[in-house]
Formats: sequence, structure tokens, C-alpha cells
Amino acid sequence: MNIISDIYNKLGISNKVLRLADEAESALTDKFKKIDSIAEYNQAKVTLAMHNNRVNATCFAATTGYGYNDFGRDTLENIYAEVFGSEAALVRPQITCGTHALAIALSANLLPGDELLCPAGGPYDTLEEVIGIRPSPCSLKEYGVSYKQVELKEDGTFDYEAIRAAITDKTKMAEIQRSKGYKTRPSFSVEQIGELIKFIKSIKPDIICMVDNCYGEFTQIIEPTHVGADMAVGSLIKNPGGGLAPIGGYICGTQECIDRCAYRLSAPGLGQEVGANLGTMTSFYQGFFLSPNVVAGALKGAVFASYIFEKLGFNTVPKSTEERFDIIQAVELLSAERLKAFCEGIQAAAPVDSYVTPVPWAMPGYDSEVIMAAGTFIQGSSIELSADGPMREPYAVFFQGGLTWHNAKLGILTALQKLVDKGLVKLD
Ligand SMILES: *Cc1c(COP(=O)(O)O)cnc(C)c1O
Repeated sequence: MNIISDIYNKLGISNKVLRLADEAESALTDKFKKIDSIAEYNQAKVTLAMHNNRVNATCFAATTGYGYNDFGRDTLENIYAEVFGSEAALVRPQITCGTHALAIALSANLLPGDELLCPAGGPYDTLEEVIGIRPSPCSLKEYGVSYKQVELKEDGTFDYEAIRAAITDKTKMAEIQRSKGYKTRPSFSVEQIGELIKFIKSIKPDIICMVDNCYGEFTQIIEPTHVGADMAVGSLIKNPGGGLAPIGGYICGTQECIDRCAYRLSAPGLGQEVGANLGTMTSFYQGFFLSPNVVAGALKGAVFASYIFEKLGFNTVPKSTEERFDIIQAVELLSAERLKAFCEGIQAAAPVDSYVTPVPWAMPGYDSEVIMAAGTFIQGSSIELSADGPMREPYAVFFQGGLTWHNAKLGILTALQKLVDKGLVKLD
């Protein structure tokens, strides 16, 4: 143990902070065990899919040009489909980010005159322009797709009666976000999402149910496609890329939906058959293989932080005792100085750009300044340890990721140390 405190001391962490860390880890033994058993299940599930699809070295070959008969790409898509329990999957470096994957899933399956319904509150911020809630060229609204939204009830549950009332002949698709994102509502479990989908389909069976799965992958042993979702959509620089994928997005779902998504991504008539992998396959396969354990590390970091900051009297969302359905942790720090110090600590613990000091800036599209900390191998990757928060009450920091549990831990300890050093938090 002393040898561990020695190296932590060299990293600037005091013994007082380390004592609190020890206490937290002892208190969280059972929680960590549960996280490990989810990772163990998912690791076996991914490995089984790789066995069943006979993964071999030729899968990792780079293709260029049109990318016809790309064996590695096609095999990887079969593996994703098996792991997600879906008929088909589209997993591509040509999908530039999560928003792009979601935009493809929406625009491929909605036609002029159709209506999109968000039955569980508004969609992720970046989808507002995709849908046309905020005007934008090429929005769904411009193409004649209308939009309706049903808010959650005050207690955070689904408003089934209002959803029933919102569904009409025009309703073609429902979009449900698994993770809370930057909202204050709790994240939904896959089971809750399944109930909602069942209800929607009981009213109108042909409504396509699409789940924004960002940050949720592998936090449970099932995914939304196991409980009736027609599509689950996410980013490869979050959970399923395992920190190795340098770009990309995925859509898992029914053959019919995925065919349309492929036609929208490339061109009608071409679909899934084109799209060279440009040498991304090793990172996609290996990242997906590592993902269950990378997600477990991120979950441990989130629970650990939540325990420590609860101990210090701060409000955390979710609480350390609550079940987790995504990797995001929020801590309400209640002052601008604390929010800055926390982000400085996260930055200082990162393997990349550790010497940089994050400062708040006026980011386009936000009504207050935002501070962000991320020292990542893959630019903007948020499966790597990262934190951000808007500079306004309650000065909540949202953080996620950490490629390994131990680096997530170091990030949280460094953040706490910054707070202690600046006299913004007192330890007894
Ligand atoms: C990150 C995220 C997105 C958008 O993904 P980008 O890769 O940033 O475009 C959409 N929905 C949720 C819930 C997210 O967390």
C-alpha cells in the first residue's frame, strides 16, 4: 500500500485524500462486484459473437475505394447484430459521430407527411436542428416531417395517457433517449424502455421505435434492441468503441430499417455494399472487445466520485447507491471556483495535455459559458476521462469515462486535491 501512496504523492495527491479514497473503495466493494459481473457477462457475450462469426486476421485488412466485398466490415456488422440481438447492423467509419448516426436513422425512415414523436421528453440538444425544433437547412421539418413531444410526468415517469393522445395516423417513429444527457431526469433502464415500446406498439404496432443509446452500451446485460426497439443508435467514440475506435457510429436494428439507413448513408441502390474501411477494422474489433471492461472502469469511477462527493455534502446525480444505466455522473459543486478547480484536476490527471489549464468559454449554442476538461488520445472522445459544466447555478460538473478504472480514480482524486488545495473543500 505504501508503495502505492508514494506514487500517488508524486502525482500530487495527499495522504488525507488517499484515506478518503480507501474508505470509499471499502464501502463500494459490493457495488464494484456487481459492475464486474455485468462486464464479465458482456465480455463473454462479445467473445461468443466473435467465435460464432469466425473472426480471423483477414478481418483486419484495410480496404480502399468502393470497398466492395469488405469481409472485415461485413463480419463486424454481423457481430454487432448478434451482440445487440438485432437482425442487422450498420457500423461504419463513414458515420462521423453520434448525431450523424441518429440523423441517418431518422431521415432514412421518415418520409414527407410522417410525424416523429418523442414520448419521453425532448431529444438530445444536437437533434433539435436535425428535427427542426431549432430551424436549420436540411432539417426533417424542411422535408415535411412534423414533430410532437410528450414531457415526462413530474415524478420522472412516462405520461402514458398523454402519449396515447399524441399518437395519430401520421405517427411513424418514436425516439427515446436512454441516457439523461445534460438533463436532470434519471436515465432509463432498458427494462423501462421496453415497457414504453410495448405500450406504443400496443396502440399502433407499425410505429418504428428508435433508441438513442449513447453512453448506455454495456452498462446492463441487455440492450434496447433486446426489448423491442427497432433501432439502437450510438457513437464509436463513446462506449462501444472501447477508446480505440478513432471515429464512427453504429445503428443496430431490423433488416428493413438498416437497409434504409444504408441507402441514406451511401446512396439508393448502393446501401451496405459500399464503404471502404480505410484501415479502421483492428481498432473497431479490438475496441468492441475491450468495451465491456472499459465501461466497467467508467462506471466504477462514476460511483466512486458520487460516493466521495456525497460524503463531502454535495448533491450528486445519480447517488452512489442507485443503479446505473449510463456512465455519466453529475456533481453539483455550487460555485464557479469549485467547478473550475474540479475540471483543472480532471485535466491534470489525463495522460494527454495534462499541463493545460481549462478555462470557461462562450460556446456557440449555450446560454452561459462552459468549461471543459479532456486530455484524450482520440480528439473529443468521451469514453476517455472528461468533464464539463455550464458556468451557472448549481455549477454542476458532468463527467464520464476513464479508459481504466485506475485512471478514472486518479482523475477524481486529483480533482478533489485541487479543491482541497484551493480551500474550496475541507477534509477532516
Ligand atoms: C453524445 C450524445 C449524442 C451525440 O453524439 P455526438 O457524437 O456528440 O454527435 C446524442 N445523444 C446522446 C444521449 C449523447 O450522449
